[in-house]
Amino acid sequence: MICLMCHNQLQTEMTILNMFQKESRICMDCRDELLKETNTNYEYPHEVTSFLNYNERVADLFHRYKFMGDNALKEVLASFINHNFKSYDFVVPVPLSTKRLSERGYNQVTEVLDCLKIKYTDMLETAHRKRQSERSKSERAKSQNPFTIKGTFDVSVLKNKRILIVDDIYTTGMTMTHAVEVLDAHEVAEIKVLTFSKV
Ligand SMILES: [Zn+2]
Repeated sequence: MICLMCHNQLQTEMTILNMFQKESRICMDCRDELLKETNTNYEYPHEVTSFLNYNERVADLFHRYKFMGDNALKEVLASFINHNFKSYDFVVPVPLSTKRLSERGYNQVTEVLDCLKIKYTDMLETAHRKRQSERSKSERAKSQNPFTIKGTFDVSVLKNKRILIVDDIYTTGMTMTHAVEVLDAHEVAEIKVLTFSKV
């Protein structure tokens, strides 16, 4: 087998420690590089758990995964994510717009959740946006938040539920603030945030 990151041959030494573990898809060097300066659990502005610090190698991984169609890298990302998903009633991926989804061919978040065999509920959508000039001032103010809950989703089931929102990269936190805001309007018990990486 070859490393999914550097494409060198994987040298897996069988030891008593790793013999029952799932086989790694990347070499130890790549693993060390990706994990450089890793931190988890940020408290501001909402509780965020994140697994990879956004260093140069992580940026390269995301670039290849999101923009160069290297879909196999979803397995690399999945291998770093270790979270108690079962403690939530709903795992909610941040959606892509239809246009972005058709360009990329896959949602980079749900692909990783599928690898981890996590059941998620695709309840958010990115609203279609009219052009600036076509919108009234109040419409513009409201449309600051790009997310809505799908019309087909019964929001009454959200009451008193624990929700985990999942995205790929946490940058300014604005995406998450918007996603939290939309779900928070439905008397949920708690909302937490997980991202694969954080800048
Ligand atoms: Zn490697």
